[in-house]
Amino acid sequence: MKAIRSWFDSQSHDDNKQQGDSVDWMRIVPFILLHLGCIAVIWVGVTPIAISIAICLYFIRMFAITAFYHRYFAHKSFKTSRFCQFLFAVIGASATQRGPLWWAAHHRYHHRHADTDNDPHSPKRGFIWSHMGWFLSKKHFQADYNLVPELARFPELRYLDRFDVFVPIVLAITLYFVGEWLNLINPALQTSGWQLVVWGYFISTVVLLHATLLINSLAHHWGSRRYDTSDDSRNNFLLALMTLGEGWHNNHHYHSASARQGFYWWEIDISFYFLLLMKKCHLIWDVKTVSPEKRDRGFTNAKDKSCV
Ligand SMILES: [Zn+2]
Ligand SMILES: [Zn+2]
Repeated sequence: MKAIRSWFDSQSHDDNKQQGDSVDWMRIVPFILLHLGCIAVIWVGVTPIAISIAICLYFIRMFAITAFYHRYFAHKSFKTSRFCQFLFAVIGASATQRGPLWWAAHHRYHHRHADTDNDPHSPKRGFIWSHMGWFLSKKHFQADYNLVPELARFPELRYLDRFDVFVPIVLAITLYFVGEWLNLINPALQTSGWQLVVWGYFISTVVLLHATLLINSLAHHWGSRRYDTSDDSRNNFLLALMTLGEGWHNNHHYHSASARQGFYWWEIDISFYFLLLMKKCHLIWDVKTVSPEKRDRGFTNAKDKSCV
């Protein structure tokens, strides 16, 4: 019963910091169901509207994860209003990657100990561990709020963290009603409530989740190294495209305070372009970037360490 309650209220779970790296199978049932839900595509079929909604939700939520969960909450690389902070925390929460405090706390810890024994998800412990074993373990179920003190003082963020399945459930229910409504007003679309739930929530979320997780696993393993950082981070063009700019991970470990991760014009960083747009609209400000001096000073011809 305790495990089932923890599916909905993450703080009802015991503090498992001492319980090691074993997987908490009862606790991760929702994670397994998330993947099984994709199989329902066999019954609901596919339509252009369902694919369009899945793609839109992928990009909107990937932006919330990369630009806000990562660059704002974890790295404070720009400033924004409390409303905008909350809005993107909600959109990020709909990506089903736990709450913003949990995400930012673990990520700050990653930067502090990248690729050492204390790194929560170094690929040195194996690809599967770095990709998903770490967050399925008992040890990493709870976040250390001492790592995110300036964020933990916002009660709305703490609630999002505590009831982290609430927003994903609301998204799935909304998609169901949108699908039923579309079918009612325009039957030619041939969609349905369940079809939009499967494509817009399950499939879109699973692809989004694993694309994000590849930054923890593959971006510390596959790609080139411009900077000789103390970790194994890599720059990877393909990962950067999939994750709207997060693939420039060696740049990011070199200068993590920068909201811009693609340091040169050819390093496509879509999240940063949208952040510039938000800055123009005065939705965000004090956007930190890397200076040309710092960018060029740290340049090392670390080709011998590349692993393509
Ligand atoms: Zn990293
Ligand atoms: Zn980071």
